[in-house]
Amino acid sequence: MNQNNKSGQTTGHKLASPTISQKTRGAAIRAQRRNQDDANKVVNQYADASQKTHRRANIIKDEAEKLKLTFLGGLEDVGEKNMAVIEYDDQAIILDCGNNLNIDLPGVNYEINDTAYLETIKHKIKAYVITHGHLDHIGGLRHIVPKFPAPIYGSCYTIGITEKSFADNETKDNKDFTPEFVISNLDSHEQLKIGLFQVEFIRVTHAIPDAAAICITTPVGRIVATGDFRLDPEPLDHRPTDITRLKELGDQGVLLLLSDSSYADIEGRVPTESTLQQTFYDIIDRAEGRIFVAAFSSNMNRAQMIINAAVAAGRSVALDGRGMLSYADVAVRQGILKVPKGTIVPITQAATIADDKLLVMCTGGQGEPNAALQRMSGGEHKSIKLHAGDTVVVSSSPIPGNEVRYDMIGNKLSKLGVHLFRHPTHELDGCGALHVSGHARRGELREMIQLTRPKFFIPVHGGALRRSYHAELGIQENILRQNTLLPDNGDSLYFTGEAVEQGGQVSHGSLLVDQTGSVVSGLVVKDRLMLSEQGILTVILTVDKKSGQLLTSPDIISRGFIAMRDSEELVGLLRTELRRAVQQRFKRVDLDRFKTEMRDFITHFLFDQTGRSPIVIPVVNVIGGKVMTKTVHAEKQPTAEAKAVDDQKRFQEMRARLLGQDQRD
Ligand SMILES: [Zn+2]
Repeated sequence: MNQNNKSGQTTGHKLASPTISQKTRGAAIRAQRRNQDDANKVVNQYADASQKTHRRANIIKDEAEKLKLTFLGGLEDVGEKNMAVIEYDDQAIILDCGNNLNIDLPGVNYEINDTAYLETIKHKIKAYVITHGHLDHIGGLRHIVPKFPAPIYGSCYTIGITEKSFADNETKDNKDFTPEFVISNLDSHEQLKIGLFQVEFIRVTHAIPDAAAICITTPVGRIVATGDFRLDPEPLDHRPTDITRLKELGDQGVLLLLSDSSYADIEGRVPTESTLQQTFYDIIDRAEGRIFVAAFSSNMNRAQMIINAAVAAGRSVALDGRGMLSYADVAVRQGILKVPKGTIVPITQAATIADDKLLVMCTGGQGEPNAALQRMSGGEHKSIKLHAGDTVVVSSSPIPGNEVRYDMIGNKLSKLGVHLFRHPTHELDGCGALHVSGHARRGELREMIQLTRPKFFIPVHGGALRRSYHAELGIQENILRQNTLLPDNGDSLYFTGEAVEQGGQVSHGSLLVDQTGSVVSGLVVKDRLMLSEQGILTVILTVDKKSGQLLTSPDIISRGFIAMRDSEELVGLLRTELRRAVQQRFKRVDLDRFKTEMRDFITHFLFDQTGRSPIVIPVVNVIGGKVMTKTVHAEKQPTAEAKAVDDQKRFQEMRARLLGQDQRD
């Protein structure tokens, strides 16, 4: 983003009385425009539905007997709001409906897919079919399903988590809405009839219980969507990917494979998860003080291993982190997570348990700013403060793109003097492996293609680069190059049993959601970004109506621009210049024009003096003259002055409010 390089510190500068040249005015305007452009660019990366809408028109006119597949999200990054729409005739199925938590915008919690396209096909939507319970696959449901109601299909655990996400996050949009759920057995190969589609859920191993690939049989052929998967022959729950069924489907003929590309840039295969159990036994058996294990909150196999080792060492287990409690709660109720009675203690009682009898399982291994491990290491946690002698186990690798935060929490823990075990440095730390990824590497991706032998292939998830590696791998596995497709978010494709045609782009983009669960406008976020770049300066001018002169010294309030107490000289000069500028302009123009001219004047003055362009808000308070509307109408500048009188009370209130705040400086 643009940073002005002139210092905002004005103390000690020799300030010249400004004679603002045309050149300075031009530069000030350009600087403001740059700020706006920067803010636009940042927000448009996310909230870009309106910009991208109909960028390319739909080019297929005749849709008869063609299957339309449209990607609304999921193709641009790791963990990005997965969602695709499958349409035939007057019926549609939505495949996954996620959110994206990797959003770095002020006050924004996550993004979901823009629903403008769904609006155009809402009469067709028959079902949401969901591969698994990670938020990038289910996080949009509670916002989108109430607007476009249809039953949600998934495995028992996926539905359990989704149901909880609706119940725990009531907003005004979903509080009166009761979602309809259909649970599918992952092992019986049941065929669910949804309109003219048939849907089958097939068990896969991932990093959450009951993950599934989905086979959708359509009038033009079978689509297999793998969801997120790996091919671990020995997962802890003894429920490996149903390779036999995938091969059967391959034998029967698969039209299209959509496959997970998250680790398509890593050779080999993900090591089996079963090797990790011994590491946890070893570390937990040896440790003397308290033990803290940070793991992904939804990975219940990992939670089971940690609990097994804690129980074997005679330790009680406390869980911390809202996400971890939610996922564990559903897993215990469904009999997936097995915990001997009396093992779990509330985190609030952790302090009452002897150090060598306690293990805390928590979130925050990725260095997430507000997660439990971060708060415990910074002394901001209600019940626990980490200290030397504790053992901390980070049972994860950095998620691609999150390496910096992952390192920061490592540094922080190291400074505290805890015994630290992390997966990437496990050999140095003196223990076995602590993590396996939930996403297939190239060897497994190759096997998935060999099992299903699709005619068409679309690599999904993981971003453009990893998807292109995956596409090349498909071509090596004998899929025709012209049948290997790399669409973008928003692209639609039309399939017959034999061919595929480009269908152009549909409306797509993001809706930004804040901490309350409400959608926040891109315009508001742009303002926040501009404020965060250069700050804001409010100038309150009290003008005598008759004389056109300032009645009092202007009130000047700065937020995020300059520290007033360090900038007396600049502020003094601005006051002097304001006096002159008001006198020159007030009588000459109407009030709206006066405000605009004052804003420009102040903007140019500040740029000339500091090289910065904060947002400037002039507030004009006109005193004197009759306040009767009739009288005002009779005068020469009726509109502006009537406004001034109406606004007077509001301005005074605002002034009191702002000045009240200013005294905190
Ligand atoms: Zn996943």
